Amino acid sequence: MKAWEKNIRRVTPYTPGEQPRQSNVIKLNTNENPYPPSPQVAEVLRQYTTDTMRKYPAVDAQPLVDEIAAFYGLEPQQVFVGVGSDDVLAMCFLTFFNSDRPVFFPDITYSFYDVWAELFRIPYERRPLDERFEIRAEDYYQENGGVIFPNPNAPTGVLLPLEAVEDIILHNQDVIVIVDEAYIDFGGTSALELIEKYENLLVVQTFSKSRSLAGMRIGYAMGNKKLIGYLNDVKYSFNSYTMNEMALALGTAAIQDHTYFEETTAKIIVTRERAKEEFRKLGFTFGDSRTNFLFVTHRTCPAKEIFEALKEKGIYVRYWNKPRISNHLRVTIGTDEEMDRLFAFLREYLGKE
Ligand code: PMP
Repeated sequence: MKAWEKNIRRVTPYTPGEQPRQSNVIKLNTNENPYPPSPQVAEVLRQYTTDTMRKYPAVDAQPLVDEIAAFYGLEPQQVFVGVGSDDVLAMCFLTFFNSDRPVFFPDITYSFYDVWAELFRIPYERRPLDERFEIRAEDYYQENGGVIFPNPNAPTGVLLPLEAVEDIILHNQDVIVIVDEAYIDFGGTSALELIEKYENLLVVQTFSKSRSLAGMRIGYAMGNKKLIGYLNDVKYSFNSYTMNEMALALGTAAIQDHTYFEETTAKIIVTRERAKEEFRKLGFTFGDSRTNFLFVTHRTCPAKEIFEALKEKGIYVRYWNKPRISNHLRVTIGTDEEMDRLFAFLREYLGKE
């Protein structure tokens, strides 16, 4: 190792799912929404001018923050926004997890958590999910430096009932508890109603899934004003203008369109429930996903083989060669037509036809 290499912050980065360049693939590997964003987003885009780009964006991320607050019946000072929930979560790790005690999160979970912990040198401990891939609230009773978990969890798709979420918060009132609700709009109950009751609770959500704007990068956190204030202090000490002007404008249009949001999420839920039936008939088992993806395992055929066969056919799903989940596939819910093509291939491949 060269002398100059000794003081370099070395990290093993997060590995995102593949973004194949070809347009003829069926892309069910990164939990994107298969439907376009609200037509109101397209309308704002049509009226967008380059003159807007000349100026710096609003430092307080207006009007987006106001619109998110209005949607949830909050005050703007209870909302923090960032470049996707990845940016929001990274800021949360930096702001709230500064203890010598380990931060707790599940062993099978969003694989960015340990990366941020490593990057910021935060001690952490993984709490194993039970054999049904469920979070046990009791595993979070011990002293710790903070708690974070997705609800529903990813990549399992399993929803923790609100009572169990509250139980975890109740037992962790001396640290910050972050509930990462990236997938909550697909049939879960948000912990947002608890932010008045517990001042140490932060709820994080995103426009990437239920609002079809993964490419725009918009995420947000909701909590009491003090927590949001601390997050903003860190953000303004790092980069004042994380959100670009176009993301602010398009995100505002997206959150204003309640009807479209409800229609598309409902459509995805219907397709998901149908997909559960199809997977079941083909010999797959899975938990009761309340997300826009299913985490499936086949009774006889190894996941890795199915993953490779699907990829060969231009159907991308997600596979991790990791302990406990190396025989599972995470399949994003696509359009009905995309799912039909997936199932047609699987029926043939698994010899069900
Ligand atoms: N949390 C979870 C659990 C996720 O699965 C994802 C998607 N990769 C994110 C956060 C981040 O999403 P985004 O940065 O697009 O908001």
